[in-house]
Amino acid sequence: AREQGFDAEELEGDLAAAAAGPLPVLAVVGRPNVGKSTLVNRILGRREAVVEDRPGVTRDRVTYEAEWAGRRFKVVDTGGWEQDVLGIQASVAAQAEFAIETADAVILVVDATVGATDDDEAVVKLLRRAGKPVVLCANKVDGFSMEAEATYLWSLGLGEPHPVSALHGRGTGDMLDAVLAVMPDAPAETFGQTLGGPRRIALIGRPNVGKSSMLNKLAREERVVVDATAGTTRDPVDELIELGGKTWRFVDTAGIRRRVHLVDGADYYASLRTAAALEKAEAAVVLIDVNEPISVQDTRIITMAVEAGRALVIAYNKWDVMDEDRRFYLEREIEQELVQVQWAPRVNVSARTGRHLEKLVPAVETALASWESRVPTGKLNGFLGQLVASHPHPVRGGKQPRILFGTQAGTRPPRFVLFASGFLEAQYRRFIERRLREEFGFEGTPIQVSVRVRE
Ligand code: GDP
Ligand code: GDP
Repeated sequence: AREQGFDAEELEGDLAAAAAGPLPVLAVVGRPNVGKSTLVNRILGRREAVVEDRPGVTRDRVTYEAEWAGRRFKVVDTGGWEQDVLGIQASVAAQAEFAIETADAVILVVDATVGATDDDEAVVKLLRRAGKPVVLCANKVDGFSMEAEATYLWSLGLGEPHPVSALHGRGTGDMLDAVLAVMPDAPAETFGQTLGGPRRIALIGRPNVGKSSMLNKLAREERVVVDATAGTTRDPVDELIELGGKTWRFVDTAGIRRRVHLVDGADYYASLRTAAALEKAEAAVVLIDVNEPISVQDTRIITMAVEAGRALVIAYNKWDVMDEDRRFYLEREIEQELVQVQWAPRVNVSARTGRHLEKLVPAVETALASWESRVPTGKLNGFLGQLVASHPHPVRGGKQPRILFGTQAGTRPPRFVLFASGFLEAQYRRFIERRLREEFGFEGTPIQVSVRVRE
C-alpha cells in the first residue's frame, strides 16, 4: 500500500528539495557494458518510477534526482551515450570530459571480472586532471569469491576499489556512503549564485545556426564584465554580459567560441556540449536557422532543453536573409514540428544585423519568471476540482479514476504531483497539463506532472 499511496514523508522531501536550491551532481562513467546503467537504476531505487510517470517524456533522460542517507543529489547516467559511430575511447573520453565539466563527484565503474583495461587507464588520467573526487566501483562482484578480483583494481591508483554488484545490490550502500563522504553539499558551479547572482543562460543549437555570432553581437554591443572567478585553471567557460541593465552569465561559451572539429562523431560531441551547457544553465536559448528546414537535430536539442527542465526561449535567427516564400513554409514547419513547445516565447532575430536582439532579454525574463512560479495549493485544487467535475476521466473496466488532490511539489521548473484513485491514462494527463497551462500560463517553462495512485 505504501508503494502507491500518499506518502507524506516523500512529499515533504520534494518540498524541502524545492526550497533547498541546486543539488550536487554525481556522474557515473566507465567503458560500455561495465554496468553503469544498472548501477544508476540501483541508486535511484523506486523513487524514479514516479518521476518517469510524467506525460510527454519518452526519450532517455540523462540526469535523475536521487537520495541516499537523507541527502539529495543528481545522477548523470552516461550509459546511454555509447554510439556505434564512436570508438570506445572517444566515447569514454567524452563522458569523462562531461563529468569534468559538470559533476561534483564521479563514480568510475570498472568491470572487476575483466580487470583494468587501457581504456580504463585513459579515463583515470582524464579524471585525475579534473581534480574532482572519484570513487572507484569494482562492479560485477556478485559474490564473496569474486572479491579478490576487485583488489587488483588498486593498480588504477584511485584508492580503494569498492566491490559492488550493481545487478544484485551487493555493496552499493557502502559505496554510496563513500561517495557522499567526498561530495560537496552544493554544486561548485552554482554555489553562491542562487541569491542575486547573475542568471545563467545557455545558447544552444546545431552547428552554424549563429551561436557564436549572437554571443559576439551581444558581447560587443553591451558591456562585457570580466569574470574574476573563471579561468583560474582552465579556459574561461562562462562570460558575463550586461544586457538590459542586468548582468547575465552565458554558460559554456568556451564551447561556442572554440570551434571543435572532429572527423568522427561531431554530432555526438556537439550533443554532449549541449548537455553540459544545459546542466549549468537556468534558461536555454535555442537558435534555429530560419533558412533551413527545421531538422531532427533542431527538435532534439529543444527536447534536451525541455527534458533538462530549463526555461526555454526559441530564437529564429538569420531573419535578415529570409525570403517571403520561406516565411510561409517556416510558419507551417513551426506548427508541425514544434507543437510540443508552443509555450516557448519566440523571437525573430538577426545575430548579424542585431535585429530584434533587444527582445531576447525580456523573453528570457518571462521564461524564468514562469520557471520559478508557484501555484498555491488552494488555488490549484479549486481548479482541479472544477476540471474533474466538468471533464471526468473516462470509465475503464467499470471504474472511474478520480484526481483526489494535487500539489505543486517544486519549482524550477514547476512540478506537480496529483494523487488519484486509479491509473490516469496518458491522454488524460496530457489534457490536465494543457489545462494547467491555459489556467496558469507558464510561458517559457516546461512543467512536470506526475501521478501517484492511491488504492
Ligand atoms: P553500461 O553499458 O555500462 O551502462 O552497462 P549496463 O548497465 O547496460 O550493463 C551491461 C551488462 O552487464 C548487462 O547485461 C547487465 O545486466 C550486466 N551487469 C551489470 N551489473 C552487473 C553485476 O553487478 N553483475 C553481473 N553479473 N552483471 C552485471
Ligand atoms: P554557430 O556554429 O552556431 O556558432 O554559428 P556561427 O555564429 O559561426 O554562424 C554560422 C554562419 O552563419 C556564419 O557564416 C555567420 O556569419 C552566419 N550567420 C550567423 N548569424 C547570422 C544572421 O543573423 N544572418 C546571416 N545572414 N548570417 C548569419
